[in-house]
Amino acid sequence: MTSQSSDPHAASDVPSRAPSAIAVDDEVLPFEIDSLDLRGRMVRLGPALDDILTKHDYPAPVGKLLGEAIALTALLGSALKFQGRFLLQTQTDGPVSFMVVDFKSPDQIRAYARFDKARLAEGLSSGALLGNGHLAMTIDQGAHMSRYQGLVALHGGSLEEAAHEYFLRSEQIPTRVRLAVGEEWRGEEGGPKHRWRAGGMLLQFLPQSTERARQADLHPGDAPEGTAPHVVAEDDAWVEGQSLIATVEDLELLDPDLSGERLVYRLFHERGVRVFSPQSVRAQCSCSREAVAAMLASFEPADRTDMVKDGQVEVTCEFCSSVYRFTPQEAGVEDQAPGAP
Ligand SMILES: [Zn+2]
Repeated sequence: MTSQSSDPHAASDVPSRAPSAIAVDDEVLPFEIDSLDLRGRMVRLGPALDDILTKHDYPAPVGKLLGEAIALTALLGSALKFQGRFLLQTQTDGPVSFMVVDFKSPDQIRAYARFDKARLAEGLSSGALLGNGHLAMTIDQGAHMSRYQGLVALHGGSLEEAAHEYFLRSEQIPTRVRLAVGEEWRGEEGGPKHRWRAGGMLLQFLPQSTERARQADLHPGDAPEGTAPHVVAEDDAWVEGQSLIATVEDLELLDPDLSGERLVYRLFHERGVRVFSPQSVRAQCSCSREAVAAMLASFEPADRTDMVKDGQVEVTCEFCSSVYRFTPQEAGVEDQAPGAP
C-alpha cells in the first residue's frame, strides 16, 4: 500500500499494526502523498462518538452537527505535537447556539452542545442549525506557553467551510476537510441497536516553497461593487489534491467495512501514498473533584454563597454529567450570621 521512499524518517514511522481491511474505529490515520506535497489525516469514530452523543441523548440533528465538530476536532487535535489542548467552540444564533469540543493530548475527547429544541427540525443543514456567529479554535500548550486562538465568522455555512477559512486566514495553509456523521442500526439480541458513527478527512498542501501555496483571496465581502477579485492560479498539485478529496462520498467515510488505509489508497494510489502509525481517540472527560473545587475557589465569595442549595453546593459537569457535591465549608462559603436569609 505504501510507495517506496527514501525519506529518512520513514523508518521511524513503522505502522503499529498491519494495514486493516475493515474500518478501525476511534483512530486517526495520518498519510502523505509526497509527489503532490500533500499531507492528510483520516478519522473514523465509532464507540467514542456514540458514547458522547448517546449519554447526552441529543436529538438527531444536534447529534449529527456535534458529531461533525467532534470529527473535525479529532482531526485537528490529534496533530498536536506537544502535551496540550485543542478546543473548538461555536457561539451562534441558530437552533444549536453553543458547542464545545475539547481534545486533550494524546487521545482524550469530550464535547457538549446547547440547543433550542423548539427550533430544531429534521433536514436542517449544518449551516442552518448553526446560524450566524463565530467559531473559535484554541490551542493551549499549558501554563508556561502562550495560548493561540483563531476566530472564523459563521454565516450559515458548514463546519467544513469554516475549517477551510480558518486555515486560509490563520495559517495560510491550503486545506480541504470532509466530514460525515451517520446513524447505524445493527441487529442485536433484544432488537436493533442504534449507534452513531463519523468519518472525516483532512488534506493540506505543504510545498517547500510557500509561493506555491498562494491561494485566491477570500470573497472581497463589503468591497465596492466592481472591485475585481484577486485572481491567483492555484498550483497544479493542489488543484489535483482538491479534486481527489472532492470525490470522497459520505458513505465511504462512514463505511464500517472499508478501512481508512483502503479508502486513502483508493483515492491517491496513482500518486503513491504512505500511511503512518494510527493514533487512537477515546471519549474521556477530564473533570475531577479537585478541578471543580479549584473553580469554586476562583469565584467571588458572594457567588459561592448563592450556590448553596439545601445545605450543599452541587456542580454538574456539562461534558459528562458527573455531579460533584461539596459542603458549604468545603466550597469556601463563609459562615452566615444567625438569622441571615
Ligand atoms: Zn466531566
